[in-house]
Amino acid sequence: MAPQREWFEKDYYKVLGVADKDESKEITRAYRKLAREFHPDANPGNDAAEERFKEVSAAYDVVGDETKRKEYDEVRHMGPAAGGFGPSRGGPGAGGFNYEGGDISDLLGGFFGGGRGARGGRGAQRGRGPQRGADLEAELHLPFREAFAGVTTSLHITSDMPCETCRGSGAKPGTAPSACSRCGGRGAVDDNQGMFSFSTPCAACGGAGSVITDPCPTCRGAGIERRPREVKVRIPAGVDDGQRIRLKGRGGAGRNGGPIGDLFVIVHVSPDPVFGRSGRNLTMTVPVSFAEATLGTKLTVPTLDGANVTLKIPPGTPSGQVFRVKGRGVAEKKATGDLLVTVQVVVPTTLTDEQREAVETLEAAMPAVSREHLGV
Ligand SMILES: [Zn+2]
Ligand SMILES: [Zn+2]
Repeated sequence: MAPQREWFEKDYYKVLGVADKDESKEITRAYRKLAREFHPDANPGNDAAEERFKEVSAAYDVVGDETKRKEYDEVRHMGPAAGGFGPSRGGPGAGGFNYEGGDISDLLGGFFGGGRGARGGRGAQRGRGPQRGADLEAELHLPFREAFAGVTTSLHITSDMPCETCRGSGAKPGTAPSACSRCGGRGAVDDNQGMFSFSTPCAACGGAGSVITDPCPTCRGAGIERRPREVKVRIPAGVDDGQRIRLKGRGGAGRNGGPIGDLFVIVHVSPDPVFGRSGRNLTMTVPVSFAEATLGTKLTVPTLDGANVTLKIPPGTPSGQVFRVKGRGVAEKKATGDLLVTVQVVVPTTLTDEQREAVETLEAAMPAVSREHLGV
């Protein structure tokens, strides 16, 4: 019962074909002309004309009345400040208009009231109408290999839950909330203040529509209690360090029949002694000797998805060379990554006399390494 809602959506001046600065005489003249033109008596059986006639009458009802016109102008004035109103901004919901995910009743200082239809977010704090449960955040530490493979695990969190004693009703077991006598269970009352007749949340029941006469002793009527619980979560394969996973409807309990919030799990992945990760690729560094790098060799390396693979290292492979094992990385929606194997030539740090002799013999047999390009 808030006909004024239409004021945000309809341009009554446009309907009457007048300007909003026009004097009332001109508005009346325009209205009479249109009313005559589209009057049902003059257009028997013409539904479109009848619609138009109703539209014109509704428009003149407002802007043809000096007081109402003033109020209408004020409401229109508020529109652009909020980024404009219009049907494209979402239809009238139970809790008023939606704008950018919020609730326009916030914007209008509660003209429309929250009532039973109050949505989550900023509009949820008012009254005892349904309130969305809190979004929760939990941290999860995973070993590298579990993050790669995906895992089902349990999280222990403490949050608002429906009270076990009263099953969330807030009423003492054996009793039931009774309908509010002030608002008749509607949760809202029409507030006629001359200008507006918006409905506001019922003060007697706080917008819930019901009153608890015998509150539950455990939750004192809130229907909610904080308690620890275990949440089973399925972490998808390939989750990366720092990733935030949203588990819909696993957060805190809503109040007064409001929806459950979400649970956000922040994943911390511990490093692995063998594997690293770069985007969807897995990485690995494998040591090789100078002789292996020089003469070529075969390397057998593990993968995270099963069988080992053997890499052919050709003769003359420089230290730091990367070998790609296709498709052995992290499987993502679009593509599966690769395993990138970096070979690193190991330089001995201690030598026996025999080893030193051998290296010196090698050095003598090899051409000197050129550093001429340094120009020194
Ligand atoms: Zn309770
Ligand atoms: Zn009430």
